Amino acid sequence: MSRPSHASLLDGLSEAPSVRFNNRIYEMKDTGADVITMSLGEAFFDISMPSFDGMPSADIHHYSHSRGVPLLRQKLAKHASVDSGLPVDPDSEILVTAGSKLAIYMALTAVLEQGDEVIIPEPAWVSYPDQVRMCRGVPVMVPWHEGYEAPASYITPRTRAIVVNNPHNPTGRRLGTVELQSLHDLAVKHSLFIIADEAYSEFLPKGERFISADQFDPERDHAIVCKSMSKNYGISGWRIGYLIANRFMIEQINKLQQHIITCAPTILSCYLAENYDMLRETTRPQISRVVDVRNRMAEELAARDIRCLPGDSTFYLFASLGESRLNSEDFATELLSRHKVAVVPGIGYGGTCDRFIRIAVGAEPEERLLRGIDAIASMIAATR
Ligand code: PMP
Repeated sequence: MSRPSHASLLDGLSEAPSVRFNNRIYEMKDTGADVITMSLGEAFFDISMPSFDGMPSADIHHYSHSRGVPLLRQKLAKHASVDSGLPVDPDSEILVTAGSKLAIYMALTAVLEQGDEVIIPEPAWVSYPDQVRMCRGVPVMVPWHEGYEAPASYITPRTRAIVVNNPHNPTGRRLGTVELQSLHDLAVKHSLFIIADEAYSEFLPKGERFISADQFDPERDHAIVCKSMSKNYGISGWRIGYLIANRFMIEQINKLQQHIITCAPTILSCYLAENYDMLRETTRPQISRVVDVRNRMAEELAARDIRCLPGDSTFYLFASLGESRLNSEDFATELLSRHKVAVVPGIGYGGTCDRFIRIAVGAEPEERLLRGIDAIASMIAATR
C-alpha cells in the first residue's frame, strides 16, 4: 500500500520567514550564544504574573460562549468604539478568538470563493498571501513603491477584498483619515471587503489618536476589523484576538469559530476581562516608551545613511540595504553569523522587498539596539 499524499494546497505555502529566522535564534540562544534580537515581532513589557486565585473555577476550566466571555466582549467593544467613533454592540458585533491571525484567516474564509482575488500592498505581513491561498483565493501583491493609492489599478471583476494593516508591520506607517476614506470609497465603488488588520493599534506616537477602518463605514458593510491583545498588552502567547464586523458577518464567522476552536481560551479571557483596565494602565506608558525608542532608532539609522520606508508607529523599521550587493536573506544570514545580530529579511514581506530588512526594537535595551544598528551599517559598508 502506498502512503496517501498530502493536499497539494500545502505545496504552495511557505514557512513564515520571520518565524523560521526566530526559530534559528532560539536554537542559537539555547547553545548559549548572545544574539542581539531585532527580529522578534513583539515588545517585551513588565506585567505582573497573573493569579487565577479567586476566579470562578466552575467556569474558567471549561468552554465558554463561542463569541467570547461576555465581560471581555463588553470591555473590548467599549475600547474599540473609541477607535471607530462608532458604537460596537458587544452582543452582536464582536467575536473574541485565538489571536488576530485566526481572526484574519476566518475573515478571509468568510468572504472568498475559490479563485477570488485579494489585493495586498507590499511590504505585506508574511501570513496574508498564504492565508489567502489557504482559502483557495489568489493574492494580488502590489509593489511597495506604488503606495496605497495603487490598489484601484489592481481591481478586477474577481477582486473581493483589500487587506490593510494599520499601523503597519514592517514599516510603522499609520494611515490617516484621507487614506482610510479613499480605501472605503474604493470598497463601496467596487463592492469589496476591507480586511483591516489593526494588531498594533496602540503603538502610536504620544498625542496621536488611532483611527479604525470602520470609522467611515457606519453600517460596517465593508470593513472587517481584526484586532489583537498580543502586541498591545505584551501577551502574544495568550492567543487572544478579536474581530469587529456587522452582525451578519459575525454570525457567519462564529460558525467557523465553533467548528475550529469552539471558543477562545476561557481562563485567559476571564482573567483579561477582570484585569483589563489594570493591564491597559500598566502597558500604556511602556508602549509610549517603545514607540519613542523606535523613532530614536530611525534617527540613528538616518545618521548612518540608512534609509527606512516612512513610518512613526509600532516598534518596526523597514530599512533599505542601500548599496549592499547582498540580497536580504543573505544579508540577514551574514549579519547573524558575523555579528550575532538578528533581523528579518525583507523578501518575506513580498517579492519587491528584497532590498530591505525588518528591524524590531521591542525586545532589547537601547544600548544593544545601537550596537545592532552599528553592525548593520558596517555590514552594508563591508558588502558594497
Ligand atoms: N497582524 C500582524 C501585522 C502581525 O504582525 C501579527 C503577528 N506578528 C499578527 C497580525 C498576528 O498576531 P496575533 O495572532 O498574535 O494576534
